[in-house]
Amino acid sequence: MSQVFGRHTKANLPVAVRGDGIYIFDSNGKSYLDGSGGAAVSCLGHSDVDVIQAIKSQLDSLDFAHTGFLTSEPAESLASKLIAHAPTGLERVYLVSGGSEAVEAALKLSRQYMLEIGQPERTRFIARRQSYHGNTLGALGTGGNLWRREPFDPVMVSASHIAPCYEYRDRADGESVEDYGQRVANELEEELLRVGPETVIGFLAEPVVGATSGAVPAVKGYFRRIREICDKYGVLLILDEVMCGMGRTGTLFACEQDDVRPDIVTIAKGLGAGYQPIGAMICSGEIYRAIENGTGFFQHGHTYMGHPIACAAANAVVTKLTDGGYSNQAATMGNYLNDALQAEFGQHPNVGDIRGRGMFRGLEFVADRDSKSPFDPNLKIASRLKAAAMDNGLICYPMNGTIDGVRGDHVLLAPPFICTNAQIDELVDKLSASLASIL
Ligand code: PMP
Repeated sequence: MSQVFGRHTKANLPVAVRGDGIYIFDSNGKSYLDGSGGAAVSCLGHSDVDVIQAIKSQLDSLDFAHTGFLTSEPAESLASKLIAHAPTGLERVYLVSGGSEAVEAALKLSRQYMLEIGQPERTRFIARRQSYHGNTLGALGTGGNLWRREPFDPVMVSASHIAPCYEYRDRADGESVEDYGQRVANELEEELLRVGPETVIGFLAEPVVGATSGAVPAVKGYFRRIREICDKYGVLLILDEVMCGMGRTGTLFACEQDDVRPDIVTIAKGLGAGYQPIGAMICSGEIYRAIENGTGFFQHGHTYMGHPIACAAANAVVTKLTDGGYSNQAATMGNYLNDALQAEFGQHPNVGDIRGRGMFRGLEFVADRDSKSPFDPNLKIASRLKAAAMDNGLICYPMNGTIDGVRGDHVLLAPPFICTNAQIDELVDKLSASLASIL
């Protein structure tokens, strides 16, 4: 009996003992193809010698130095690498231990920024429905996942939510893709006017929505319009790339493909690639200088922030993603994955949509393709698919999207970028067999 208090109190989970490339092995010797990189974490697979060596070397020189007293070489080097590749205007990196911490830091920094520039009346955030920004109370409060929020609603920071950019579900018949993108982006302006733009700190969104919707990218032009609206009302644009960043979509930062300049970006998951827990919040020089010239310190912090071992691992990861060409590899292999998914499921009567970018792909399941009607939630398509896939030796990330009554179940695929064509074929075969066993 496991005494680890995990997510599922009743689950009897296999015990993972070894990782090798894109596979994880359990204590019975069974192998699992890591088709979702856990939850879009393991971008380099499970036995990368360079990252492992970087961790070992760092352990030999310095284990830990509290950031209240000292900075460290791996933290400085990681920050410079990230800034060298970050969208224009982003100039400072705040290093934390994961995605939720990165989002919390972004929320608090943006509130403090408003205080520093003399706008204390700005106290609220706007985000989108069907979004996920983390499980701590601030991040959960801004997120738009009703099921995750509901029990904690009375004790959370509250935010208001506009529609996501979800073309498959929401573009009207006869509406052009561009018009659709502008229409849903304009909801931000409508919401600002409803709540009073002078009360809003920032707008928070995932460039490619991950956990709640299964790799849904915004349509072309959407984020440019969002940026215009934020500028018009002095609202910060915070992009949450915890899941879709770090090469996952084929560019180091997902927002590069949306031609948008955020004020703050959050990253995690692929940054440590699973080798170490690490996240980061990257902010504009303008925000940083307002704090520097004002209070002089950011009123926030965690004991393990900027941890040297985690930073050393992330340094090795980011070097591989950039100089080592692994972000490009995600773009190339992502095209192969997309083609393989289209070939296998393009005509499937219960696959309504195949979407995503790079090595970040989603399939949405429907009871009927023409009406796009979702499966009855009582059929528990997502949890049965997860179980069937595990039986077949495949880790994938199915989710029940019907919580708000209109979305279908979906599965998120986020395999390591090091996959070969044959391994992608194996992933698709296993997914197909798993789906066939439950439908
Ligand atoms: N933001 C997004 C977009 C995420 O997908 C996640 C995790 N799925 C988080 C924040 C929270 O990250 P963590 O689980 O590392 O706290």
